[in-house]
Amino acid sequence: MGSEKIVVLGTGGTIAGVAQAGASSLDYRAAQWGITQLLAAVPGLREAAGCALEAQQIAQLDSKDMDLDTWRRLALRCTELLADPLVRGVVITHGTDTLEETAWFLHQVLAAHKPVVLTCAMRPATAPFPDGPQNLLDAVVVVRTPGAQGVVVVAAGVIHEAQWVRKVHPYRLDAFSSGDAGPLGWIEEGAVRLMRNWPLTQAHQAQAAIEKVMRCSTWPRVELVFSHAGASGAIVEALVQGGVQGLVVAATGNGTVHAALEAALLRAQAAGVRVLRATRCSEGQMLPRPGDALPAAPGLSPVKARITLLLDLLQ
Ligand code: ASP
Repeated sequence: MGSEKIVVLGTGGTIAGVAQAGASSLDYRAAQWGITQLLAAVPGLREAAGCALEAQQIAQLDSKDMDLDTWRRLALRCTELLADPLVRGVVITHGTDTLEETAWFLHQVLAAHKPVVLTCAMRPATAPFPDGPQNLLDAVVVVRTPGAQGVVVVAAGVIHEAQWVRKVHPYRLDAFSSGDAGPLGWIEEGAVRLMRNWPLTQAHQAQAAIEKVMRCSTWPRVELVFSHAGASGAIVEALVQGGVQGLVVAATGNGTVHAALEAALLRAQAAGVRVLRATRCSEGQMLPRPGDALPAAPGLSPVKARITLLLDLLQ
């Protein structure tokens, strides 16, 4: 019989970043420290965990370079860990740049009846006052919280749901927002204050999605295009010629698309390409209008709509 444990999976990011001595806080390389070194630098982490802490390195990258195969490895490892009765929950260290995308991907493919907590940092591990250690400590507190479940993000003392979280600031420590939805909760002095229920997972849908992820040998090609003043259909035409299977358009306002771009997207759709509209507004959500010719992804940012479409297109 083993004993209960929390597993921390490392993927890189600024939280594992290293700066040269005396360099500015912008001049660093992300993803340098291994996960074991990272955990060893957090005073009180083992005490906060209250059980064994196990570290595993899944990847070591700057999350701007996150890729689908790393997502697959991460999702498969999380699935195994969630099924292990000795695992209380999973913490994932990650870069801030694509954190919201990984969170949304995992939310859709994991039947997370236990907590899966992604955390990060805006300052490298070697900064005089790094934010990563507190974020890691807070992530462990969330895992330990009775009843905690689902995929969430913890940063700067705030708990965010995978669906709503977005990186909204390139520099400040509190770089994430859940927009209109607001935070799921906060971590205060080692305790969670929750605003609403933990996210529910759609176990059957997640199971079907992870099976598709396991089976797939080639990922479908899904690209993002942007509607803006002066847009044309040229990019869409090039992508269709290149064999794109799905297109998400970051639409203006309530899902409107420049006429020239819309015409190209309608032609792409007629040729069999799946097209989805998501608003480029950072708050609120699109309201469907009667007669909309292109399907919408209300409640999803363009990058998250892209992930949903990608999973939909998996054979
Ligand atoms: N470029 C870094 C990353 O996403 C930024 C960060 O972690 O804050 O890995």
